[in-house]
Amino acid sequence: MCPSTALGGTGWAVGLDIGGTLMKAVVVGPDGEVTGRLRSPTAPGAGPAAVLDRAAGLVAQARHLPATVGPVSAVGIGVPGFVDEASGTVEYSANLGWRDMPVARLLSERLGTPVALGHDVRLGGRAEGELGAARGASDYLFVAVGTGIAAAVTLGGRQRRGPSGLAGEIGHVVADPDGPLCRCGGRGCLEEVASASGIGRRYRREVPGPEIGSAEVLALAVGGDPVAERIWSSAIGQLAHAIALVHGALQLEMVVIGGGLAKAGTRLVEPLGAALAADLPCIPPPRLALAQLGDEAAGLGAALLARASVLSAPAGDRRALDAAHPAGA
Ligand SMILES: [Zn+2]
Repeated sequence: MCPSTALGGTGWAVGLDIGGTLMKAVVVGPDGEVTGRLRSPTAPGAGPAAVLDRAAGLVAQARHLPATVGPVSAVGIGVPGFVDEASGTVEYSANLGWRDMPVARLLSERLGTPVALGHDVRLGGRAEGELGAARGASDYLFVAVGTGIAAAVTLGGRQRRGPSGLAGEIGHVVADPDGPLCRCGGRGCLEEVASASGIGRRYRREVPGPEIGSAEVLALAVGGDPVAERIWSSAIGQLAHAIALVHGALQLEMVVIGGGLAKAGTRLVEPLGAALAADLPCIPPPRLALAQLGDEAAGLGAALLARASVLSAPAGDRRALDAAHPAGA
């Protein structure tokens, strides 16, 4: 879990993952060690300004942790949705209810520190590539399967963003044309039929009761519940089919599965691997692995992004930042 010294050295950085439910910060020291972790509810219902104030407060807290003994040179932010990294703008985030928000500028003004913005799943993929399960791989897919489904595509060691930043949005490709309506307006999108929450909703449409997720459906399937068994196996098959098509197009070295569904461990990887092999009768399948950084991946990726942005800034700017934010400031 600990990235030890893998991040390389330059100043202190804070990576902040702003999710729909929780915001999670990691503080990374000059040698790449994680020296602090903070969490706070996001409460997006309070409005964007309140969320950004809370995010700024969390970074300020990170600066004052006893272990943060140097100046924080940069802050990286991860956000779910359609993100324009170059302009630092969140174009649309369904989970946060944000549209056309210049998040990097607004947070930078609050903090007096450069802020780099990234897409949460791409940041998670980056962290798994540099510090986690995909270390050493240059062509890999990181698939986050939780409330939704999204992927990060890395080819030749570089992440593919696509002309509109939508590379990897496999969650909104139709997997079942007769399936349930998706919040995007489509019908039977992969994330409606195979995400952790989609699997729970599928079960509840057949067996009414209180809201459940994929973990409960899996437990029922393991206990012999035939509806749960059928839904679990169907969801795994649909996920495998989507991954197989990506692999058929790109020939990946490996596929890393993260998000809440990855907690199923071998009960996910074994049937997914078998379904993937069946969907690729004459193409060697990619290696399949579970993510190693858990729910910290996006925050660590945000810290990596922050540090990379400091490294690419002119040296004069870096000295100015350190002078403006001395230790513990
Ligand atoms: Zn959709």
